[in-house]
Amino acid sequence: MSSNFPLTHDQLVDLEKKFPTPFYLYDEKAIRGNVRKFIGAFGVFSGICEYFAVKALPNPYILKILASEGCGGDCSSLPELILCELSGIKGEKVMFSSNETPADEYRLAFKNGNIINLDDITHINFLEKTLGKLPDLICFRYNPGPLKGGNALIGKPEEAKYGLTKEQIFEAYSECKKRGVKRFGLHTMVASNELDPDYFVDTARMLFSLCVEIKQKCSVRIEFVDLGGGIGIPYKAEQKEVDLTYVADNMRKAYDEIITSAGLDPLKIYWECGRPITGPYGWLITKAIHEKHIYREYIGVDASMADLMRPGMYGAYHEITVSGKETAEKDHVYDVVGSLCENCDKFAVQRKLPKIDMGDLLIIHDAGAHGRAMGFNYNAKLRCGEVLLRPDGSFKEIRRKETIDDYFATLDMKGLKSFR
Ligand SMILES: *Cc1c(COP(=O)(O)O)cnc(C)c1O
Repeated sequence: MSSNFPLTHDQLVDLEKKFPTPFYLYDEKAIRGNVRKFIGAFGVFSGICEYFAVKALPNPYILKILASEGCGGDCSSLPELILCELSGIKGEKVMFSSNETPADEYRLAFKNGNIINLDDITHINFLEKTLGKLPDLICFRYNPGPLKGGNALIGKPEEAKYGLTKEQIFEAYSECKKRGVKRFGLHTMVASNELDPDYFVDTARMLFSLCVEIKQKCSVRIEFVDLGGGIGIPYKAEQKEVDLTYVADNMRKAYDEIITSAGLDPLKIYWECGRPITGPYGWLITKAIHEKHIYREYIGVDASMADLMRPGMYGAYHEITVSGKETAEKDHVYDVVGSLCENCDKFAVQRKLPKIDMGDLLIIHDAGAHGRAMGFNYNAKLRCGEVLLRPDGSFKEIRRKETIDDYFATLDMKGLKSFR
């Protein structure tokens, strides 16, 4: 984690002269290497595809990089569909795993030949009415209901709003087959930021068995299973990254046991991961601009929860390093805070760090997924921009900072003048 930051202190200081803080930095070379490793780990399956979850890092430059590595895109809204289109991710390389979806979004996905993943049995009629017919290929999202465990971020499946029950799954495939649908996929996502590799093997096993049952009960052959996202990353130093080779090899065993022996090979395997692809290779760079000494020691920085929401929203942990003081002793305890009028706007709480001086650059780690993307404009905060470190060592601003004009763009300021 801390060690994967690609710049020296001097390089970061130089960069900050050109791109004042706060900003996000992404490492293209590392992202490319990482996605190759991810796809490579699942090379034991011939039909493997990673549909990058656009919501994790919805920047078309990043999507273009991932597309060139063979990724598709997983979308959940109309602008996300357009982002994929603009990044050259087309047709069945786009998975539309949406829920509570407006009709016009289904229309665009259908027109573009994207894979439509339905979240509910009632959406069959909704889709047919919207499109005038059903597409040739349909996927359904399965909600397995009470499982052992569950997962803190996504909660217990039986309390989650997503997906069809097991009974509905059989009914849905039978009904679609009757109405002329020719090709079928099966999707589930029952975890978020999960680090236990067995969780994913168990999920795959569950889906493989369901494919066999669907074949038996509905005479429908599933073409692909989509395991969703949910693979976690080690935000904390003591956590261990998911061993993807272990996951893939054990999935392969389950595949041979269940799918191959039922005569259902080949079955394609899809993922919709966001976090483990870009998460560790994005950083929020911010500057210490205030210090205060009250009941606790506070360091005020120029970024806020509007730029990175995870700590404030989930109490999520992000490693912080003070640039140039990587090896200094962590002999101070700080709350590192942003400027929102919300006391949860804290990047770190009671964190041991080296002594921080005003003007120090702070590197907030593992912010490459669900970081800038979750930003918002509360307190009229303007969200920060994004800089890409290219493999040749050059920098490209791939999203500028928001300006005051951006903030006012949705307001009718002419109308305001004459408004009484
Ligand atoms: C959020 C989400 C993902 C991606 O999750 P990560 O934790 O970023 O890998 C994939 N699929 C669906 C349906 C999601 O909601």
